[in-house]
Amino acid sequence: MDQPQKPHVAILPSPGLGHLNPLVEFARRLVTDHDFTVTFVVPTDVPPSQAEKSILYSLPPESVEHIFLPPVNMDDLPKDSKFVTFLTLAVTRSLPALRDIFRTLVSRRRLVSLVVDLFGTDAFDVAREFDVAAYIFYTSTAMDLSLFLHMPELDETILGEYRDLTEPVRLPGCVPIPGKELFDPLQDRTNDAYKLVLHNAKRFRLADGIMLNSFRELEPGAVKALLEDAPGSSNKPKPPIYPVGPLVNMKPRVKDTESSNVCLAWLDKQPRGSVLFVSFGSGGTHSPEQINEIALGLEMSGQRFLWVVRRPYDKKDDGATYFGRNEKPSFDFLPDGFLERTKGVGMVMHPWAPQAQILAHGSTAGFMTHCGWNSSLESVVNGVPVVAWPLYAEQKMNAIVLTQEMNVALRPKASENGVVKREEIAKVVKSIIEGEEGKKLRNRIEELKEAAAKTLSPDGASTRALYEAVTRWKNQLRN
Ligand code: UDP
Repeated sequence: MDQPQKPHVAILPSPGLGHLNPLVEFARRLVTDHDFTVTFVVPTDVPPSQAEKSILYSLPPESVEHIFLPPVNMDDLPKDSKFVTFLTLAVTRSLPALRDIFRTLVSRRRLVSLVVDLFGTDAFDVAREFDVAAYIFYTSTAMDLSLFLHMPELDETILGEYRDLTEPVRLPGCVPIPGKELFDPLQDRTNDAYKLVLHNAKRFRLADGIMLNSFRELEPGAVKALLEDAPGSSNKPKPPIYPVGPLVNMKPRVKDTESSNVCLAWLDKQPRGSVLFVSFGSGGTHSPEQINEIALGLEMSGQRFLWVVRRPYDKKDDGATYFGRNEKPSFDFLPDGFLERTKGVGMVMHPWAPQAQILAHGSTAGFMTHCGWNSSLESVVNGVPVVAWPLYAEQKMNAIVLTQEMNVALRPKASENGVVKREEIAKVVKSIIEGEEGKKLRNRIEELKEAAAKTLSPDGASTRALYEAVTRWKNQLRN
């Protein structure tokens, strides 16, 4: 007799590794722990990068297939459009292609759910047409999810720009957030990016459930408030929330580059707990002046470092090279003589490093990061204290969580012109690697590392939350 087909989930990540990486780990759990099969349906605006492809190839091909949707045309968008606009429209403009894929999936598979990330709620309409449940996998903090759920209300009650607020924004159970530290697209309410974020936020309550990549011990107040539907939030009921984190993709990529191997070999030769890893996510970069200060600050600190460095941006934009992801390797923008003077103490790489393996390496003692939530979680599960240097998206909010809620990070102070000077960088780097403060942060992040392992253990809260969600999916098949 034929075996009944396994339950099947379609996952639609919006473009970018920050969304793809945790969803890949989520898919791995569905397959290995819950006996699902999965199709990744990946919208694209430009051809997928090697990094995106090789992360998808790392999943077991017998259980996970992936389909890159035809690239959508963005030629009509103004050149200065924010990357959130590109991400959201990449999904919205891919809906006809998604509908075709759904037609095939529902005829061939036992499709129980569509899972999207925060920019993908327009795809709910396709799921509804085919009578399939629609879920969000929220790839950032509980604080940020709370912001999204409250955004319709904030939009109605707050007049003017958030950045001009004299009082911080207070969300249930969260550290108060100064208006200018809110999610980037909220900084200009006249921009299309704000309107698209608000559009997605309004649709959050249409989801059948929301998986959150965080856990109670990381953000106790915010997670508790989300689970309780805290008073003060919108009157509309919100979907059930499942804190399933920290889901981080620690697997090496299928084909790692030679430079990745060289950097891990370099780390092998460094003393235990001595190296600062410096990386600003899959697209972060700085002004030429700031790159200069970082280089000279690292040198001045006298500490060992491994720095993934990207070409500085020319004009003041939002610090992301998201759309310039295929730039040519070169270090000609670093200060004169820097590479020679720091030889042996430091290593620079471009444009990519095996971050998860570096953070798990015994020689790594600190992580200067842009506070992307995946990077932050990777620091937690490996017990590596943080130098918080947020750049764009929701990273300033994440820096607040890291410094004021989790107490695992130091945040260097910028001078009046917005540049963090070399002396400040050297001071913070020394504190993290060899100072008393660094020791305290290390102890604290070790506690969170243990809490992370516990919540993901077979009887842990995150494991149970995921079990609850997938049981709902499986029960649909019985009805
Ligand atoms: N990453 C990596 N090597 C790099 C840069 C990034 O492996 O050189 C991975 C990193 O481990 C993380 C993801 O890419 O899993 C970046 O996600 P995050 O949310 O931290 O930031 P984003 O890139 O989305 O801003």
